[in-house]
Amino acid sequence: MTLRTLDSLGDLRGKKVLVRCDFNVPLADSVITDDGRIRASLPTISRLRESGAKVIVLSHLGRPEGAPDERFSLAPAARRLGELLDAKVVLATDTVGPSAHESVSQMSDGDVVVLENVRFNSEETSKDDGERSSFAAQLAALGDAYVSDGFGVVHRKQASVIELAKALPSAAGLLIETELRVLERLTSSPERPYTVVLGGSKVSDKLGVISHLLPRVDTILIGGGMLYTFLAAQGFAVGSSLLERDQIETCRTYLEQAQRLGVAIVLPQDIVVASGFSADAEHVVVAADSMESTPFGAAGIGLDIGPAAAEIFAQHIAASKTVFWNGPAGVFEMPAFAHGTRRIASALADMSGFSVVGGGDSAAAVRALGFADSDFGHIATGGGASLEFLEGKTLPGLEVLGWQ
Ligand code: ADP
Ligand code: MG
Repeated sequence: MTLRTLDSLGDLRGKKVLVRCDFNVPLADSVITDDGRIRASLPTISRLRESGAKVIVLSHLGRPEGAPDERFSLAPAARRLGELLDAKVVLATDTVGPSAHESVSQMSDGDVVVLENVRFNSEETSKDDGERSSFAAQLAALGDAYVSDGFGVVHRKQASVIELAKALPSAAGLLIETELRVLERLTSSPERPYTVVLGGSKVSDKLGVISHLLPRVDTILIGGGMLYTFLAAQGFAVGSSLLERDQIETCRTYLEQAQRLGVAIVLPQDIVVASGFSADAEHVVVAADSMESTPFGAAGIGLDIGPAAAEIFAQHIAASKTVFWNGPAGVFEMPAFAHGTRRIASALADMSGFSVVGGGDSAAAVRALGFADSDFGHIATGGGASLEFLEGKTLPGLEVLGWQ
């Protein structure tokens, strides 16, 4: 892999270094429920502080509409960063305004300032190249160098990821290096059998990766919301489950392609069907091909893979040398529908080969279910970026750092 790394920036003592992190953490009433992405930024931030740099952290959080919005403030993330570093972290109350300039002007070597949410500025995600460039120029005015370390956003054409990297001497941080090393291990001669587990709710976003994976893997296990479009492709009723009608034909093609290539696409033989989308909904286990036989009829919603399917998935995982998992098998946030996700996580934790968990919700799920990061080979911080990398797409945020 070639990529400009931190060393390429030379001596950073006394330099102001803008670091683009991904602090897009899940929050419940302003409390961080999974700080994995903040912890993942520590190696780079600590390295920069040790080298005497003034560290200015940039990040987005959620999807504010291009204007300040209290609900998406980075205040909880800045506080958590301070706790993890055991150091004072100052939060500027704007991104490129007077508070940002004032906070930066008062920094000493090794200090850390977090600028407020970059997406409070509509130019950050603007489709207009000129708007993004002028916002990047305002950001660049705050620093001497730029480090890209938000792996979760390297597939995005956004000002703080692309244009800012062009405006200053720039390099990849340690998190991006680590993530790429793992993804390269998955793409260039992974140890076989290689199993990929897919689930979650972003069905159309994730289906694309299947055509790229089919010639490269041995088994694909399908759970989560993605499952129902596959069941529909086989002609089964899916009641009121998550369904992307315009993808049914694509799923049918994948099933045929898999058969031709001798790759197993494994669909659950049983599923958990609920009367509605709520934690206390009535629910029953049924065969995946007879969803309409439940007491809820066409109103039934599939919210988890069934217990028999969970065991089959676990057996496939146990027999694999490499497993990549993206997307929870069910609505794990509700305890009644968490079993499939928990069983997959425990199978990954027990396997002897190389296991990778990708995706924001998948990472949050394994932590919420009580697993430790060390139970897995790697927990990727960027689901979308990881999938696009595995699809063989060029990621603009890596290209700009000299990635080849
Ligand atoms: P990730 O962030 O890991 O890439 P996604 O964002 O695609 O995963 O999906 C995560 C969400 O998928 C979770 O909030 C979970 O509740 C939801 N989900 C899983 N199974 C189902 C299902 N059968 N129906 C609806 N939503 C589901
Ligand atoms: Mg998600």
